[in-house]
Amino acid sequence: MLFKVKLSYELYFSVLTDLKRDIVFMIPDSTKKKYDVVVLGAGAAGLMTAITAGYRGRSVLILERSNMPGKKILMSGGGRCNFTNEYVHPENFLSANPHFCKGALSRYTADDFIQLVERHNIRYEMRKNNQLFCLDSSSDILEMLLKECAYANVTIETHSDVDKISYTQQDSPDDESESYKYLLTTKNNGKRSGSQIDYVSCKSLVIATGGLSIPTLGGSGFGYDLASDFSLTVTDLQAGLVPFTLSGELGQMVKRLSGVSTNVEISCNNNTFKENILFTHRGLSGPAILQISSYWAAGQTIRINLLPDQNVATQFLEQKSRQSQILLKTFLSRFLPRSLVEELENTWWSNFSRMPISKIADESLVNIGNNINNWNLIPAGTEGYRTAEVTRGGVSTEKISSKTMEVKNQPGLYFVGEVLDVTGHLGGFNFQWAWSSGYAAGICA
Ligand SMILES: Cc1cc2nc3c(=O)[nH]c(=O)nc-3n(C[C@H](O)[C@H](O)[C@H](O)COP(=O)(O)OP(=O)(O)OC[C@H]3O[C@@H](n4cnc5c(N)ncnc54)[C@H](O)[C@@H]3O)c2cc1C
Repeated sequence: MLFKVKLSYELYFSVLTDLKRDIVFMIPDSTKKKYDVVVLGAGAAGLMTAITAGYRGRSVLILERSNMPGKKILMSGGGRCNFTNEYVHPENFLSANPHFCKGALSRYTADDFIQLVERHNIRYEMRKNNQLFCLDSSSDILEMLLKECAYANVTIETHSDVDKISYTQQDSPDDESESYKYLLTTKNNGKRSGSQIDYVSCKSLVIATGGLSIPTLGGSGFGYDLASDFSLTVTDLQAGLVPFTLSGELGQMVKRLSGVSTNVEISCNNNTFKENILFTHRGLSGPAILQISSYWAAGQTIRINLLPDQNVATQFLEQKSRQSQILLKTFLSRFLPRSLVEELENTWWSNFSRMPISKIADESLVNIGNNINNWNLIPAGTEGYRTAEVTRGGVSTEKISSKTMEVKNQPGLYFVGEVLDVTGHLGGFNFQWAWSSGYAAGICA
């Protein structure tokens, strides 16, 4: 791998005085590890912050808890990383403050990232809904970011667990030694020999630890806990972009249909997406489901229009007016997977399974048609953080500068990426938020 893992050396604590919440610390200068900027988390947002700050001549250290940077980047987009979207709008993001993302997104745009990708000669393609994917592999994007880190002289330390973060108020801003406001006590998590505890001080501390999704890829609640320690609010957290589970008869039905997919229009809480759904042995997945899951709350109904471009009731009545002898199942199988139609027949018109359309009462045809255009169902739940692509909610943006991502009343502390209460739609928007918010912080951290 391209990243360099620096071995830590022992540092000595000489004085540690607790003053209310703030701590005054002193470590002999010769043994102190000092950086202008320390970034916690070597994911998309952390790497972008580090690159940007590094190019400004800041000394930058990234501390990554796991054994390597950018695990989610590697796994993203089915191995092809959907790194951005040609059209990125604030409407593609969920947040308690829908305006918060605007500044960062306009300062570092999808075009900016595409230019970076092109400078590294990475082959990419545009897919459905303007989504940009690598043509070869997600590792192209990670390698690009790690190369940029190397050019910008960024140091990355993996296996680094931050044990404690101390903040000291800057009494005299002119005094250089005083500007190292944050002291981090880090433990290597068993993969390095020698010293178990290191001390790092920095002027700016950037929290890029992501959300709770997929713990095996680094998902952690660290950023939320830290935000609470600094008196920031964390909004309700939920798994987002996540498959639904179904129970009871519906659960049995989707199990039988496992692997079948179809294009639908899906709605919940006045939000609608036209995309594919996939039946799974646990419930429902596919892009349409992932999108709507970010708007769903437990117990709520989702509406699935199985034939969004047709008024099915009207079509049935038209067939009837032509004295059509066709069965409902045969007619619908022209537009929907046959196995799905058979399951729907068992549920909605088993009485008419052998009756031609011309013989079925108008009222029944209208009811069946309406069911197909408005299939209302209540998911039992979601698959949770184990498979969710993102965490909905996060550190409230209320006290964060939308220009710099810095905490307004806490100089030098920044939050970027998914840890913030900004959640993108499926389609490259979450990475774009990571690039844009990382850039915003990197330009001033
Ligand atoms: C399977 C999957 C596929 C996805 N595909 C796409 C896609 O194609 N397009 C898209 O736009 N989005 C995609 N996403 C979402 C996208 O990956 C995330 O939104 C994005 O990675 C968030 O970036 P981040 O840097 O904020 O957090 P992360 O990428 O989660 O990075 C956080 C980093 O912090 C580290 N960390 C955590 N706690 C600590 C700690 N205490 N100390 C030090 N380090 C710590 C973690 O190990 C991790 O490396 C996908 C997500 C998943 C799970």
